Amino acid sequence: MAKATPSHTHTVSGWAAHDSSGKITPYTFKRRENGVDDVTIRILYCGICHTDLHYVKNDWGITMYPVVPGHEIIGVITKVGSNVKGFKEGDRAGVGCLAATCLDCEYCRSDQENYCQQLQFTYNGIFWDGSVTYGGYSTMIVADHRYVVHVPENLRMEGAAPLLCAGITVFSPMKDHGLVESGGKRIGVVGLGGLGHVAVKFGKAFGHHVTVISRSAGKEWEAKNRLGADEFLVSSDQEQMEAGKRTLDFVLDTVSGEHSLLPILELLKVNGTLFIVGAPNEPLQLPAFPLIFGKRTVKGGIIGGIRETQEMLDLCGKHDITCDVELIRPHQINQALDRLASNNVRYRFVIDIASASSSPL
Ligand SMILES: [Zn+2]
Ligand SMILES: [Zn+2]
Repeated sequence: MAKATPSHTHTVSGWAAHDSSGKITPYTFKRRENGVDDVTIRILYCGICHTDLHYVKNDWGITMYPVVPGHEIIGVITKVGSNVKGFKEGDRAGVGCLAATCLDCEYCRSDQENYCQQLQFTYNGIFWDGSVTYGGYSTMIVADHRYVVHVPENLRMEGAAPLLCAGITVFSPMKDHGLVESGGKRIGVVGLGGLGHVAVKFGKAFGHHVTVISRSAGKEWEAKNRLGADEFLVSSDQEQMEAGKRTLDFVLDTVSGEHSLLPILELLKVNGTLFIVGAPNEPLQLPAFPLIFGKRTVKGGIIGGIRETQEMLDLCGKHDITCDVELIRPHQINQALDRLASNNVRYRFVIDIASASSSPL
């Protein structure tokens, strides 16, 4: 049982990893009382992000066990603090990666709180009251309303959950490069997983020509026919990659495994941008020649701000965009994490949290 500070009086059922074996087991812990700025959410669905896998296995050496992962949280508000405006009991609400920021730096003041240096995450973070944050692999969460978003009524909740991390991670770079407001560009998406498949949907909804670049030739049919991609390049096929040189304005690289940037950079037109959102454990080699000879830019980014996340969800409501998910029950989390480790999921696992009461682990 987690040590609780005095105001931590809510007993919550969840699922946690207790050591670097990464095995998830049921875990009961305490959450804070709903404060004046907080909302309490009964969690219905939580997506399983690749980041969860890194934390449960302590890949980055920063995990505080026990860790309750999950930052793609969707549920219904059950309590609202007295300072909270814009949310009420019964509202559908989402919580993504952010639990707290300083609220005062230049990034917090310009809706880029995701770049705040004092940012604390939804799990494995330290909240303002000094307590460790626990994520969405649990039945309820208390969240400061400044990090909570509305979920449009027409979206399937389980398909909307991964928008809170996977969705905003690919939306923010597109917004940053003017690809949301107007269409007609040629964009590339490297990797067709949890992030990539949403990027393809966004790209098509916003009116662009979308090329998927993947190692797996077997994904071509699905990329084109189910997700609507216009072209598909197999990254190991030199002929295809050669033919694709200088054809794209913008490329989003979602691959978290080791891979070579050279052939990807060469797909960009002069002045094109490669935006990296995948996080390989080992540094990627950055070749200078394709930058110099094509005046190309390489940059990266982490999720997006809260205002931008709300804008994305509203647009998803308008275009009826959700993620393609495999719904699992809590007792299947370990199996899902194993499958995720081998990229065997189409395209995101989402935990049906509400099913927990009917299926104990
Ligand atoms: Zn994530
Ligand atoms: Zn800040």
